[in-house]
Amino acid sequence: MRKKEETVQYSLFFIQRFKGKVLFNVPMSEYTSFKIGGPADVMAFPQDEGDLKDLIAFAEAKGFPFYILGGGTNLLVRDGGFRGIVINMSEGFKDIAWQEETKAIVGAGVKLSEVLSQCRERGLGGFEFASGIPGTVGGAVLMNAGAYGGEMREVVEGVEVLGKKGQKGFIPRSELGFAYRKAEVPKGAVVVRAHMTFTKITTDAVKEKIKEFKDRRKTTSHIAYPNAGSIFKNPENGFAGRLIEELGLKGERAGDAQVSEVHGNYIVNLGNARAKDVLSLMALVRDRVYRERGVVLEPEIKVIGEDL
Ligand SMILES: Cc1cc2nc3c(=O)[nH]c(=O)nc-3n(C[C@H](O)[C@H](O)[C@H](O)COP(=O)(O)OP(=O)(O)OC[C@H]3O[C@@H](n4cnc5c(N)ncnc54)[C@H](O)[C@@H]3O)c2cc1C
Repeated sequence: MRKKEETVQYSLFFIQRFKGKVLFNVPMSEYTSFKIGGPADVMAFPQDEGDLKDLIAFAEAKGFPFYILGGGTNLLVRDGGFRGIVINMSEGFKDIAWQEETKAIVGAGVKLSEVLSQCRERGLGGFEFASGIPGTVGGAVLMNAGAYGGEMREVVEGVEVLGKKGQKGFIPRSELGFAYRKAEVPKGAVVVRAHMTFTKITTDAVKEKIKEFKDRRKTTSHIAYPNAGSIFKNPENGFAGRLIEELGLKGERAGDAQVSEVHGNYIVNLGNARAKDVLSLMALVRDRVYRERGVVLEPEIKVIGEDL
């Protein structure tokens, strides 16, 4: 829990300048698709670049840690929560500016489903893989989110960022270090917009491809409990889910966290799972897969915060 003196400093800053919403002592379980996580000291929702710049300058000057949150759909927050400021990008940065027929500059807080729906209306292809991936454009860039052969790196030409010192910049695709479920921006930099390019086809063709992707996603769409998508990255030449299933680990539990009975690479929250349960289940799975198959599974989800 933050010190009283820090609370006063936070409050003074926010009263003076900040346009967006600010919440204190916020349960992160309300801001993650896993529905798990202890409290963040502060959650601030910058409305624009001015807010974001002031906020980062304030955090840097005071030495307060900050964390950038998109939709929280790839995130596990530990049970003790996060000491510092969670910068929630999902309420500002909602602009989509179409430049030419096939190009758009898209705010980091825009949901992938919104971009896909505009692509469908405009008959633009190349983004259908995003069908069924929750979360925001900012989070999807940082994760190089993708499915069934498509990835963000194919449609992102570059990103506008705000650096730790408040400097604006543009990072082209070639410098984003895109790799499997990974991209790189300088430490502490925030993606504010992505420059995206699609391919002109027809609305019907886009609809057809979306339907195809939805059909392929049928299994996981039956997962009824809160989750964060794939827990582990797929190892080279294989599928994490298949390995986990082959070892009979589906249905394995730690507290209210369970390896999904539907898909081996999903861990679900049956109701009151804590981060500690998810982490011990992940350790159990990694251990078994390593011991019995010699494969090291790397987590795909991000884990932040402190233990209780
Ligand atoms: C049901 C379900 C299905 C899923 N299916 C898929 C799938 O098929 N393919 C796939 O790739 N993923 C999938 N995911 C995982 C997740 O949806 C994606 O990784 C998504 O892109 C994360 O976006 P987000 O906005 O929720 O990011 P968050 O989880 O909020 O953040 C992810 C990372 O991005 C950083 N970040 C977020 N916004 C910014 C920003 N503006 N600037 C800088 N850093 C930022 C965060 O700090 C964090 O490191 C699935 C998740 C669920 C729950």
